[in-house]
Amino acid sequence: MIKVERTGFTTYRLNPLIAQTTTAGMSPDSQTNIIGSTASSPYTDSITSPQPYSPHGNITSPVPTVPSNTNYAGDYGFEISFTQPSKETKSTTWTYSELLKKLYVRMATTCPVRFKTLRSPPQGCVIKAMPIFMKPEHVQEVVKRCPNHATSKEHNEHHPAPTHLVRCEHKLAKYVEDSYTSRQSVIIPHEIPQAGSEWVTNLFQFMCLGSCVGGPNRRPIQIVFSLEKDSTVLGRRAVEVRICACPGRDRKADEKTAMPPKPMNKKMTAHKMTLGTEITSIGPGKKRKIGDDEVFTLTVRGRENYEILCKLRDSLELSAMVPATQVETYKQHQVEIQRQWLAMLSNQQTKAKLMAKRKKHPKPNKYPKIHRS
Ligand SMILES: [Zn+2]
Repeated sequence: MIKVERTGFTTYRLNPLIAQTTTAGMSPDSQTNIIGSTASSPYTDSITSPQPYSPHGNITSPVPTVPSNTNYAGDYGFEISFTQPSKETKSTTWTYSELLKKLYVRMATTCPVRFKTLRSPPQGCVIKAMPIFMKPEHVQEVVKRCPNHATSKEHNEHHPAPTHLVRCEHKLAKYVEDSYTSRQSVIIPHEIPQAGSEWVTNLFQFMCLGSCVGGPNRRPIQIVFSLEKDSTVLGRRAVEVRICACPGRDRKADEKTAMPPKPMNKKMTAHKMTLGTEITSIGPGKKRKIGDDEVFTLTVRGRENYEILCKLRDSLELSAMVPATQVETYKQHQVEIQRQWLAMLSNQQTKAKLMAKRKKHPKPNKYPKIHRS
């Protein structure tokens, strides 16, 4: 059995005895070294550890190393939501994009997350919030704060879990680090909404920037909120979170990138067509840059423009097939034509200028009129 100092209802502090009494596999710097913490509700009176995990005697993990992020309403209809801040300004501390299903939030500011269930779950349920990396290549890694933020005085004084990325301002928030996976999460009791309200709001904080080296390090993260009873998941909701300096600006930029280009008006779209001929074969004597075989599709409006572009494409393709010597002859010929044409043009212009000059300032008459009286 593990000695855990209980302060208040469910706040557990690191007890120096833990390191001596627990089995191997516990990380000495974890905040809440409660073996089997994920297997028992922290809100029951006694802390029971039915099957303490021992890395030496057991090969299989009690918890999957890659947590699920599948949205699952479950039997009780578990849901989360974000209200929009009443006034969204440039300096907004958080904002949620319905379009991208993504939360944008400033570091270390409170962000309200709303929870509800359609049917009342059994008593003693908890809500667990765990950050995970979204990309398959990073998902195995544990999301923690960067060493810089985790060890600085700011925001960390009197906090039981300085290495945790996700914090909750609930009085009974419990910070857990799984002894096997080392994954960190914050656990709060599931509560029933107050009279007249549908949702229960909890304030969360995210304690690193997404760009923090040694922490999220520009890897997209998700917070997985799960409704649990005795470590059984009854519902799950995952939300992508970007922790940044300008949530409003970043949200707009992301939405702009994600949005398809604005549709053109009906008249225009009716004649819109796609130049989608894929050219993959290249004839001999090609002059293309090596490796420049990439195929592009161009959308063009209007048949006339489409046909012009088709001709252009054909010309480029055909010219790539022509031997270099022939191309050179052709080029010289074109230069000559161009030169002749320019000469002719400049000749015409000179003539035109002269004509204009004459009209404006007609030549004085050789024999001016003499008025005789
Ligand atoms: Zn950081």
